[in-house]
Amino acid sequence: MADCKHKWVYDYTGSYAKPDGRNSMKYYKADHFHCEKCLEQKVVETRHSGFDHEEWNAPEWVQVLVKGKITQNQ
Ligand SMILES: [Zn+2]
Repeated sequence: MADCKHKWVYDYTGSYAKPDGRNSMKYYKADHFHCEKCLEQKVVETRHSGFDHEEWNAPEWVQVLVKGKITQNQ
C-alpha cells in the first residue's frame, strides 16, 4: 500500500552485546514496530560500542543490557 500514512505501533525491543576485541563491546538494540493500517514492519536499529570500563558513560539501554548480563552470570 504505497499511499499508507503509516501509523507505527511499538512491538518489542531486542538487544544484545557482542565482544569486540579484548576490552570493548559492541551493543545492538532493535526496536520493532508495525503499521496498524497496512501491517508493514520496520526495525529501528541503534548501535553503541565502548570499552568495558566506560559502561557508566553509556546510554541507558546499554546499561540495562549490561546489568542484565551481570545478573544472568550470577
Ligand atoms: Zn502503513
